[in-house]
Amino acid sequence: MGLDVRQISVLSNNYVYLVRETESGLVAIVDPAEDAPVRAALADLGWTPTHILNTHHHADHTGGNLTLKRDFGLTVVGPKADSGRIPGIDVALADGDSYAFGAATAKVFDTPGHTRGHIAYWFEADKALFSGDTLFALGCGRLFEGTPQQMWTSLQKLRALPDDTTVYCAHEYTQSNADFALSIDGDNAALKDYAADIKAKRAAGKPTVPSPLGLEKRTNPFLRADDPALAARVGLARADSTEVFREIRARKDSF
Ligand code: ZN
Ligand code: FE
Repeated sequence: MGLDVRQISVLSNNYVYLVRETESGLVAIVDPAEDAPVRAALADLGWTPTHILNTHHHADHTGGNLTLKRDFGLTVVGPKADSGRIPGIDVALADGDSYAFGAATAKVFDTPGHTRGHIAYWFEADKALFSGDTLFALGCGRLFEGTPQQMWTSLQKLRALPDDTTVYCAHEYTQSNADFALSIDGDNAALKDYAADIKAKRAAGKPTVPSPLGLEKRTNPFLRADDPALAARVGLARADSTEVFREIRARKDSF
C-alpha cells in the first residue's frame, strides 16, 4: 500500500487525516479543522506536511489552512465550485479530475449537497475515500446549501466505488446515525450487527471511523433510497428514489 493514513480527533467530533505517500514522502492534511493538534500530531510522527486537501469550505474543515500553509509552505487543494471560500487555495479540482500526489493518484468527485461546492477524494490504488461531510458512517451530511436531488446524486457516485473501499469521513456521528437508522430499518440484520459493534466501540472510547463501503451499502439508509423495502418502510412504496431520500433526510433532521 502506498498511503499511510493517520486519524486525529479534534474539536468535539471532527476527524482530520494525515496521509503520507510512502514513495515520495509527501504528506497531506485532509481538512485541517484547527492548527495546534494537527501540528502536534505531525511533530510526534516526524512528518513534514506538503499539502492540504480540503473537501469543503466549512470552518471545521479549513480552520487551520492559513497558518499551516504559512508556516510549512503547503499547497492547498480544494473544490473548484467553491474556490472563493477555501482559504489559501492553490489548486482547484472538479468532477473527474485526477490529482497526482507523489506516486499516488486521487480521483475527484463533485459531491454537492452539504455545501454548494464539495469534493471527495478517492485514492483508487489504496481504495481510500475521503468523503468529508458527504458520506458519514451510517449517515450523510445535512443539506445546508444543496437539494436532496444533489445529495442523492453525490451519494450514488460514492456508492459506485468498490465494496472494499475504506471510507474516511470527517465526523464521529456514528452512534446517533445508528440510532436513527435502526428507527427506520430495525429488521435489517446487517444493520443490527453493525449498530452493536458501534455501541461497543463507543463504550470503549474508540472511533467508529473509518468504515468499509460494502458495509455502508448494506446498512446506511442514505445509500439505500432506491431500495423498495426501505421506501415502503418510510411510507413511500413505489415513489421516486429522490423523494425517498428527501423523506429519510427530513426524518433524520428532526430525529
Ligand atoms: Zn461541513
Ligand atoms: Fe463538518
